[in-house]
Amino acid sequence: MTRSFDTSPNVLFETRVAAVERLSPGFVRLTLHGPQLAHFAAHGPDQRIKLLVPQGEYPTAFDPRTEPVPEREWRATWRDLPDAGRPVLRSYTPSAVRWPQREIDVDVFVHARPGPASRWAAAARIGERLLVSGPDVRRGRADHGVQWHPGAAGTVLLVADEAALPALRAILASLGSETAGTALLEVGDPADAADLAGPPGVAITLCPAAACCPRSRSGHAPTAPPPRHSARPSTPGRDRELPGRPGPGTTR
Ligand SMILES: Cc1cc2nc3c(=O)[nH]c(=O)nc-3n(C[C@H](O)[C@H](O)[C@H](O)COP(=O)(O)OP(=O)(O)OC[C@H]3O[C@@H](n4cnc5c(N)ncnc54)[C@H](O)[C@@H]3O)c2cc1C
Repeated sequence: MTRSFDTSPNVLFETRVAAVERLSPGFVRLTLHGPQLAHFAAHGPDQRIKLLVPQGEYPTAFDPRTEPVPEREWRATWRDLPDAGRPVLRSYTPSAVRWPQREIDVDVFVHARPGPASRWAAAARIGERLLVSGPDVRRGRADHGVQWHPGAAGTVLLVADEAALPALRAILASLGSETAGTALLEVGDPADAADLAGPPGVAITLCPAAACCPRSRSGHAPTAPPPRHSARPSTPGRDRELPGRPGPGTTR
């Protein structure tokens, strides 16, 4: 198991919360800052990172280091910790990277039945410490943690739920203006997807959590689904499914 981390380009970045913004009913944006983020690599629009969500204080084994800790090393430390107090690992997608400011943004969907990451993000305060595992540009492997490889495809099918909305938004923004296709988003509250936009040839369809609705449009900001699915805060329904496995031309 350790072997697969020997060549991992991921390291543990030391960050602090620099800003917290409620973006929409379901999303909280965490702006994370730290000098080590100068080496953070975003290799693709769906770049996978992990947050090590603290359970209270971080154990002393995770005391701050001057240099980012390689994944092989921090994983071993993490595994050796007792369950109580061990940071919880959750996957996310940075929604913005600002190297000059040594900052990244992470848009966290706060689930109706919140787990440790949703809970932490919803209560996050400026100055709080958060450890982030992500690729270090100095370690190469420029495809690591990226699943969106469209190649020369001119037609795409994108399927996402709210948890994949940051990746979907970035992928749509990366598409050429001639790209055609469909983006299907399962969303409990359309306000969470209010700014979703893509090339004119890509129809963006919002689906209520229970079943896909037929409303569709091309390239414009989403409109609300029919009233029976109208905007509401979190409902158990929106947490019904975990995202499916990604297939070719599909993201999550
Ligand atoms: C590669 C990748 C990138 C991701 N990027 C983002 C991102 O940028 N922003 C973001 O908000 N999330 C993202 N996610 C999803 C995120 O990892 C999960 O939502 C995470 O499990 C939430 O952690 P938690 O501790 O809040 O909840 P958990 O303890 O994991 O679960 C608590 C509750 O949330 C529900 N739940 C958990 N995950 C999902 C899901 N994906 N869909 C529906 N219900 C769910 C569970 O059913 C449970 O009710 C990403 C996942 C992957 C694999």
